[in-house]
Amino acid sequence: MAERLEGKTVVVTGGASGIGAAIVRGVVAEGGNAVIADLDEAAATSLAESLGDRAVAVGMDVSDRAQVMAGIAKAVKVFGRLDVYFNNAGMNVPMPFLGITESNFELVMRVNALGVLIGMQEAARQFIAQAGPGKIVNTASIAGRTGFPDFAPYSAAKAAVISLTQAAARALASHKITVNAFAPGVVATPLWKKLDADLAQMGKPEAGFDSMAADILLGRAAVPDDIVPTAVFLAAPDSDYITGQVIPIEGGMILV
Ligand code: NAD
Repeated sequence: MAERLEGKTVVVTGGASGIGAAIVRGVVAEGGNAVIADLDEAAATSLAESLGDRAVAVGMDVSDRAQVMAGIAKAVKVFGRLDVYFNNAGMNVPMPFLGITESNFELVMRVNALGVLIGMQEAARQFIAQAGPGKIVNTASIAGRTGFPDFAPYSAAKAAVISLTQAAARALASHKITVNAFAPGVVATPLWKKLDADLAQMGKPEAGFDSMAADILLGRAAVPDDIVPTAVFLAAPDSDYITGQVIPIEGGMILV
């Protein structure tokens, strides 16, 4: 069987860790070229080196437009064109609802929401310059469907990712660009290690990974590889007639 991403150039932001790193491996396994774009350039470089010629690293802060433009330019320089852009980078800093500060709100919104807008705009400009087509895939979250008390700005930012996905699908369809998202539930990644530590420090250890994972219908939290088949599907021609959609990958948790 032909590989589903053969010859496609795929940028994955936040590609050095967790879900993004699993997607990068999935892209290379399906014959694609992966551009690992991450704030942590050293980790991105070491992952790229482990994957061979079809992976390159680029240091990128997704909330800085000039860095996003430079990352896309590098993808095009190395592999000749851009086919798929995953806006996957994200972060969370929990705070009790009444204690949320302006700077916490602005930081979390800046990376998780503004970063997705900038990524979609700059990827779309490249697709349009190539005369299309193109695919954009955003990492939303169950937190974008329901608000969690200890990380309201993150929930708001992920709700913004869902709205931005719908708006971009409508704005870009005439350029043969599809825009979709997937919404993970609880995935065992380094993000949760930091979140659990922050929640414990807030005096809310019971709000962490284990309790969030306790009520999942399928009986366990996800691992990053649980996300890969859907991510590859949304990057591959199999999903050509799908746009503006958000696919939950949450094992039966919030069911919305
Ligand atoms: P992770 O911490 O393992 O990986 C996130 C990566 O993003 C890191 O390599 C980090 O360096 C990078 N990053 C952070 N800020 C960045 C920035 N400004 N610019 C570029 N790169 C940046 O986390 P993960 O769990 O793999 O999360 C990946 C995505 O999945 C995030 O958008 C996250 O919100 C989302 N998500 C995660 C879960 C979960 O349970 N782990 C659930 C739902 C959604």
